[in-house]
Amino acid sequence: MKVFKFGGASVKDAAAVKNVAGILSTYSGEPLVVVVSAMGKTTNALERLADSYFKGDTETAQKVLDEVREYHTGILNGLFEDKAHGVFNDIHNTLVELEWVIEDQPTHEFDCEYDQIVSVGELLSTKIVSHYLTHSGIVNRWQDVRDWIKTDNTYREAKVDWTLTQQCIRETLVPYMSGSNPAPVITQGFLGVTSENFTTTLGREGSDYTAAIIAYCMDAESVTIWKDVPGVLNADPKWFDNTELIPQLSYQDAIELTYYGATVIHPKTIKPLQNKNIPLQVRSFVKPEAAGTVIHGGQVPLPVPCFIFKMDQVLLSIAPKDFSFIVEENLSRIFGLFSEHGIHLNMMQNSALRFSVVIDNNARRISGLIEILRRDFQVLKNENLELVTIRHYNQATLDRVTVGKDLLLEVKSRYTAQIVMKNSNL
Ligand code: ASP
Ligand code: MG
Repeated sequence: MKVFKFGGASVKDAAAVKNVAGILSTYSGEPLVVVVSAMGKTTNALERLADSYFKGDTETAQKVLDEVREYHTGILNGLFEDKAHGVFNDIHNTLVELEWVIEDQPTHEFDCEYDQIVSVGELLSTKIVSHYLTHSGIVNRWQDVRDWIKTDNTYREAKVDWTLTQQCIRETLVPYMSGSNPAPVITQGFLGVTSENFTTTLGREGSDYTAAIIAYCMDAESVTIWKDVPGVLNADPKWFDNTELIPQLSYQDAIELTYYGATVIHPKTIKPLQNKNIPLQVRSFVKPEAAGTVIHGGQVPLPVPCFIFKMDQVLLSIAPKDFSFIVEENLSRIFGLFSEHGIHLNMMQNSALRFSVVIDNNARRISGLIEILRRDFQVLKNENLELVTIRHYNQATLDRVTVGKDLLLEVKSRYTAQIVMKNSNL
């Protein structure tokens, strides 16, 4: 059995959905589980909806909902000529549920409400894709992934209950896949469910991780992530010209690259696959015949330096108020607070009196953290920064990325250099 994952860009409009159907038609007869994300930028829109709903700004929430409805209706119109097709009703009903949510006051904490709202994106996309495949003669089975992926209630970053999840997946999927000629299963990425039946999400861009979870539980033969890039490149083409494709990558390098922020694969994806030695392919949905990148357990050195850019970074500089040293005791307290606030450290450095960290700009989380830190520490905050990480760096690569920038902090180890900088003209 193989697991495929199609992200938001691969289903962003009617033509894209048709392209996915084209790719799937070339795999007919193969046992497949197809994990699909929300269409285009739907998750971002639903995040705005959740935000305004929670703030009590019903007008904006309603406006965003209308945008989401229009966008999906546009895609439906491009896919189905027959306006009486059942999919119109199905999508309408899914959106009505969202309508009901925003008619009432929030009753749970923000992160929980967020998950109940944002999860609708994946329900919409998988319903549309599944209906369209059927419509084009590709028999398939739509599956609610919440029957499979069981999690705790850490909303927005839910932790998988592996034992239960494996049991649920195997109970349904093993008999189905071993039946005669199983049709591809279409299911949602990103979602899970608590023991109390509340929907959870696995963290932004978490659909890759869903594919890995399913593959792990089923001992799948491989996972393929279909992307709008040719495979894993040595830099994100958004920030860099002349990127190079890396045809093969070890699990270890893949973990390192995603840890430092390479967005091509979700960071949690590799571990379950490495544990079962399942290869991960990253391929282009634009050029499906190309081989792309294979990530596997072999030892393959990185062929070129790799660059990872993170924008909108915040540098926090933390110093004890009483002039005590930054010792283990202080550090363990500081680390504990970051972890409690769900803030990931993209880079860190410490000196006798100062501990500096670079983090993503998540205003809601950072302000809560700073408030607590300021009881015992002096905290300086520097915003609008860029963080560049270079694996297998050399002087030329360092020079290349720092042109026209003021450097604030630099950390180098044998293989990895990290530089925090600001545009000189800011
Ligand atoms: N739709 C979710 C997101 O945009 C999950 C995913 O795309 O992987 O974060
Ligand atoms: Mg997405």
